[in-house]
Amino acid sequence: MRALVFEGPGDVRFKEVPVPEISSDEVLIRTTYAAVCGTDAHMLDGAFPAKRGIVMGHEASGVVEAVGSRVTHVAPGQPVVASPIVVCGSCKPCRSGRYNICGLRRHLGIEADGVYAEFFKLPGYSVYAAPDELDPKEAALVEPAAVGYHAVCRAAPTPSETVVIIGDGPIGLFILESVVAFGAQRIIVSGHRKRRLDLARELGADRVVRPPEEDLKAIVMEETDGTGADLVIEAAGRAETIGESVHLARSAARIMMVGIPGEPIPFDFIDLVRREVDLLTSDASLYATELPHELVAKRILDARPLITHTFRFDEAVDAIHASKGQDAIKVLISFDGI
Ligand SMILES: [Zn+2]
Ligand SMILES: [Zn+2]
Repeated sequence: MRALVFEGPGDVRFKEVPVPEISSDEVLIRTTYAAVCGTDAHMLDGAFPAKRGIVMGHEASGVVEAVGSRVTHVAPGQPVVASPIVVCGSCKPCRSGRYNICGLRRHLGIEADGVYAEFFKLPGYSVYAAPDELDPKEAALVEPAAVGYHAVCRAAPTPSETVVIIGDGPIGLFILESVVAFGAQRIIVSGHRKRRLDLARELGADRVVRPPEEDLKAIVMEETDGTGADLVIEAAGRAETIGESVHLARSAARIMMVGIPGEPIPFDFIDLVRREVDLLTSDASLYATELPHELVAKRILDARPLITHTFRFDEAVDAIHASKGQDAIKVLISFDGI
């Protein structure tokens, strides 16, 4: 089969590789759509370390091609959603249902063969039957939707709260849709790209802010009678925005960290402690307990407005480059006709 293989920064190639062999607990999936993630572009730039020689990509929808003898919950021909992680199943986080932070977890497309190929395989526990109404294009975005939704489940906004979301990337936008689903009195989204901020407004942001032209802290204070936000969700992962998040939160507020910075960050811990601001974190997602695919199918988490481009599989390298464009939000790769 054809696969897009990561050989190192700046070096990805189409290769002929064997169709993955499955064990009794695994599922072989024929890829329908894959979606490009920021991680793919960062791997290409050398900014995100990944295993060399692996098939890239971790966001995809597909149809079951074959199942191992012990897999009974899906069958060949079934459209499915893929949670792109492999975990140990026996460590304490796994046993307590927190398998997303399994110490032995491996991510498809980063540490294990991924989805930019005609077929990919996963353990049965990472494969979910797609609801009938779930469009295969939207199904390819369940993974980033799940990452945003998981963070919001952990932060648990309430309808009386003012929530600030920093970051207008796909995760930031799915966080916004999740906060809207939970209910919040006021939602402020901060970002840099006009197209994404316009979309944030359509998706339910009460106010959008574009630093540095606009002063985020001044606007948050203005919107909260000078007290600060009840919940700040940081999904940009930049040193300045992580540092600033403390100063946007009111005393006894919560800060949820989702973005991962590439460098050490200056952070005002004294202010955090003195004002009893709770610092929360979120990594990857939980499908088994949070059912993000059902929310995408029902368009409570609506993936459609985030899809800006679709490329054929043989144009996958162009797709990764296109994902960095000013107008791109999510770029899909179609395997229909390869
Ligand atoms: Zn991703
Ligand atoms: Zn584990």
